[in-house]
Amino acid sequence: MADTIFGRIERGEIPTEILYEDDRAIAFRDVNPVAPIHLLVIPRKPIETLSSAEPADESLLGHLLLVANRVAADARLENYRVVINNGAGSGQTVFHLHLHVIGDRPLNWPPG
Ligand code: AMP
Repeated sequence: MADTIFGRIERGEIPTEILYEDDRAIAFRDVNPVAPIHLLVIPRKPIETLSSAEPADESLLGHLLLVANRVAADARLENYRVVINNGAGSGQTVFHLHLHVIGDRPLNWPPG
């Protein structure tokens, strides 16, 4: 897959405050937040989209959700939304899988 800005963040090429990291995932703040707290969780593995994930990624995908819980707890969020945009038509702009963790404001349903 093509390199992305998240690949550059993952490799430390773009100075970014890393809120959480381990051997499989990192988390940092969204540069253009849509809520008072808007965090991103990405796998170190450059998976392009959720739909391109493979059965071998099953454990990694679960891990990303647990990291989302962890960074949400660190941010003292009790109520939050985890979003994955899949494909340009859904709003995906960076083609390196990422989970948005959004909170600290009322979240309407259904989302737009
Ligand atoms: P999506 O539209 O689902 O692909 O989400 C991509 C997100 O990445 C957007 O919310 C952007 O604001 C965010 N973003 C883009 N560049 C950066 C960056 N350098 N650091 C942090 N977040 C970024």
